[in-house]
Amino acid sequence: MEPLLKVENLSVYFMSRRTLFSKQVVKAVDGVSLSIFQGETLGLVGESGCGKTTLGRATLLLVRPTAGKIYFRGVELTGLDDDNLRLFRREGQIVFQDPYSSLNPFMDVYHIVEEPLIIHGINDRRERVMETLEKVRLTPPEEIALKYPHQLSGGQRQRVALARALILKPRYIVADEPVSMIDASSRVEILELMKGLQKSEGISFLYITHDIATSRYFSDRLAVMYLGKIVELGPVPDVLWEPLHPYTKALVESVPEPDPRNRFIERPMLKGEPPNPARKPPGCSFHPRCPYAFDRCRGEEPTLRYVGRGRYVACHLY
Ligand code: SF4
Repeated sequence: MEPLLKVENLSVYFMSRRTLFSKQVVKAVDGVSLSIFQGETLGLVGESGCGKTTLGRATLLLVRPTAGKIYFRGVELTGLDDDNLRLFRREGQIVFQDPYSSLNPFMDVYHIVEEPLIIHGINDRRERVMETLEKVRLTPPEEIALKYPHQLSGGQRQRVALARALILKPRYIVADEPVSMIDASSRVEILELMKGLQKSEGISFLYITHDIATSRYFSDRLAVMYLGKIVELGPVPDVLWEPLHPYTKALVESVPEPDPRNRFIERPMLKGEPPNPARKPPGCSFHPRCPYAFDRCRGEEPTLRYVGRGRYVACHLY
């Protein structure tokens, strides 16, 4: 099956100031390759600052890649002219993490959700706005449409953000930590809603999160990112029940144990902080924190290799 979105050797580098007179290169995303299929959710997990958000935004060309290629329905995006890029913008959307700052406080819900239709010159706007508000279960839509963001709960605001992303009938949505800033009960409802949309509309999601528990619930495959690189990728049950990369193992083991009878079982926790992305260690960037590191790890960078059963891992142990 042809992937809906395919990323090949994608890199995004930023210049950051080191001292008053010198700059350094920060490799936020460094040679990432992955695919997302129609109707699939690919979870992207990793600690804060590992490059997840930059990668997600780069797949929508909201951040310009430094190198690499992005294909959407087989068409290479970085070479598109403005008209075709505009058409792509209908197909690829984003839901941001913070439903408090991502909505314009001076616009009511109707105008927030209607705005993308105006930008893309689409008619029958009222009908589409009401239909989309119903779809995200903001009811009665006529009443909700008149409200301003400050009159809504965090969960309702995130539904408005989802409605704004859905109004153009996209095929691909980057959901960047969409439930991390809302209360636990709304969190489940939003994830249920997105799962339903994935099934009924065949939308593909890149679900960015640092929360392994929700990624297990919502994702079909999981990609684990560390310092700008994918270190493991595969079907969710395999990656979580039988993690291969030492970093994935540490992430999985750091998930809190819900069963109180197991709370005294000692779990190896992830030690130390990730290194500064501007000064990555040589060889495998995880080696200063890896309990299995050996000589080769300090001098040679492992590449992401296929190890069978749809699984990929970047580690010299495999
Ligand atoms: Fe650990 Fe070496 Fe594997 Fe890196 S390559 S994760 S340091 S064992």
